[in-house]
Amino acid sequence: MMTDVTTCLICAAPMRYYFTKTYNDLPAALPYAGFSADYHRCDACGFVASKTHQDMSDDAFGALNNAAHAYFEALPLAQRGFNQPPYAEQALALAILGRNGIVDLGRTLDYAAGHGTLAGIMARYFDHHIATYDKYIASDGHDPARPPQPARLVINSAMFEHVTTRAALDALNDLVTSDGVLMLHSVICDRVPADPDWFYLRPIVHCAFHTNASMEVLMQQWGYAASIYAPKAKSWFLFKAGYPDLEHLPAQIAALNTEFQTEMFIYKSGFVDFWKGF
Ligand SMILES: [Zn+2]
Repeated sequence: MMTDVTTCLICAAPMRYYFTKTYNDLPAALPYAGFSADYHRCDACGFVASKTHQDMSDDAFGALNNAAHAYFEALPLAQRGFNQPPYAEQALALAILGRNGIVDLGRTLDYAAGHGTLAGIMARYFDHHIATYDKYIASDGHDPARPPQPARLVINSAMFEHVTTRAALDALNDLVTSDGVLMLHSVICDRVPADPDWFYLRPIVHCAFHTNASMEVLMQQWGYAASIYAPKAKSWFLFKAGYPDLEHLPAQIAALNTEFQTEMFIYKSGFVDFWKGF
């Protein structure tokens, strides 16, 4: 058991040992049988991270990611559903917000876009062509060697739970213009349970778990003032303090919910703390 104190990537408060997850039931295709990760929890903001993943060399962490990725890609489609972002619902939410001028789809970047699935759906079904970037995966739309350009809307799906450094988070925020919006898809709740069987720990490369409180801290550090949550897209949109129509946003969201006769979007000054626990 690791008992040493670490420092929170989010708020810099001390983190203490929380629990250990041992992967005893990994598939034979993954050469990590018996892999064990020690999770630490921040006293102040509740952020939970694996010290084991953080302490890995870049090469070791890269090898772990490659093995997990190759295993996942080889799975039949029916077994992949668990952790895939709801792409169709994300595309619809983007189209609605774009049509209403709430996000700028003309200056959009999907960062950590993987194989560009969301961009493909946006192009084929909604006629919006968005730029993509992924540091690790070359695709039709992007080359990892070409640095991404800042955008008024930056999309980030399923990266927050993979970060081991503060620099990885800051590199994302640095791409959002000071009047822009950051769209996020991850699991964010009030309290990460001290439970090695928690569903979100299942992928061996999930090593960072954010909370409503830690996201509130990040928003303040990064200069975001308000957010909306799209329950069907399981995505947040964070608005920079310099976003030009911030004061009109609550009324725009209310009008959209009236139009669609359902709670398409939830607005809050600060971070929308939609999920409380699991
Ligand atoms: Zn913290």
